[in-house]
Amino acid sequence: MPIAEPSKRLQQIPPYMFQELERRIAEKKAAGIDVISLGIGDPDQPTYPYIVEAMQKAVADPSTHQYPSNRGREEFRQAFADFYDRRFGVQIDAADEVIPTIGAKECIYNLCNAFLDPGDVALASDPGYPVYTGGPLLHGATAELLPLLPEKGFAPDLAAIPAESLAKAKMMFINYPNNPTGAIVPEGFFEEVVAFAREHEILIVHDNAYSETTYDGYVAPSFLATPGAKEVGVEVFSLSKGYNMTGWRVAAILGNADAIQSYWRLKTNVDSGLYEALQLAGVAALEGPPEPLAEQNATYTRRRDLVVAALGAIGVNVTAPKGTIYIWAPVPEGHTSTSFAETVLEEAAVVVSPGSMYGPSGEGFFRISLTAPDDRIEEAVERMRAHLS
Ligand SMILES: *Cc1c(COP(=O)(O)O)cnc(C)c1O
Repeated sequence: MPIAEPSKRLQQIPPYMFQELERRIAEKKAAGIDVISLGIGDPDQPTYPYIVEAMQKAVADPSTHQYPSNRGREEFRQAFADFYDRRFGVQIDAADEVIPTIGAKECIYNLCNAFLDPGDVALASDPGYPVYTGGPLLHGATAELLPLLPEKGFAPDLAAIPAESLAKAKMMFINYPNNPTGAIVPEGFFEEVVAFAREHEILIVHDNAYSETTYDGYVAPSFLATPGAKEVGVEVFSLSKGYNMTGWRVAAILGNADAIQSYWRLKTNVDSGLYEALQLAGVAALEGPPEPLAEQNATYTRRRDLVVAALGAIGVNVTAPKGTIYIWAPVPEGHTSTSFAETVLEEAAVVVSPGSMYGPSGEGFFRISLTAPDDRIEEAVERMRAHLS
């Protein structure tokens, strides 16, 4: 018997459904088989050296050693305001329209804490990043899943949201370039979202994790560049993927000043802010030269093209995504997401993610992450060609 039962809210989180797949991966590894994982979306390359150097310097600076404030250092807020102006043409007031967050995940979870009461609804992309559904459940609210429709460019049909859920909806999570589908925002969708948010009084949270990770000349916009967006929403900008900083936990929330104020108020009760040396490293990242990012995106483009070609050779046709670090592909005839992931593991000793991991609308798809070294990706696609053709 456990000494105490976990809370009902925690028990409500659906059990992890992919234990069988993980058991098989562990079994293969234990048997000495060289398993290549293309499952996890965590960049394989190190953080850019200029950021590491800035961090080393910042750690040695005693002004970073005390409790940070949840508002963040002036330099941090100003660097984000400057970056948003330069990069997206978005004006951000460094005084009250941006503060640091301990990664995007913390921010999204705590926005649920700041805005949702039991009985409230959050609208969440399906398939989507798991905290869009777990966050509401852990605050006694529920998530209404919005299927991302391939025929709509992986945008949800806002007109199809059940009226009863819409009446209870307080916030909506969207994310473009999109994980896991690799989709970029369809023309006009952000504008549609702003009008929808105004009509139904719903706070929009745009999770921007991939705007700097794009290919083929595509330049991703900020949601905040949409006219009226700042009146209805916030954007969470994470340095994790673009700057290879997943372990560092540096992000910012930008946009609607009232929403940021509520988030800040909540945070003063929850944690003590982002370590100031990390804030300074974040400043360095945003002010850094463009070359490392460009080089990295060239690397992902090369890997993406390898994977798309290999999938074509086994009869899986996908369009190459213009952003993110993922290939989202339909499973071959006769397979479910899980049975296909198991087959790829058995036949090729390659791990791919079953699409159903990201929500019910992910069923029928699988996701390949481009975050393995080039030679491992080459080996993985070679094995898939050899064993699955
Ligand atoms: C990776 C990812 C995140 C994680 O961001 P952190 O800043 O590392 O917490 C958030 N959202 C999406 C959609 C992601 O893919």
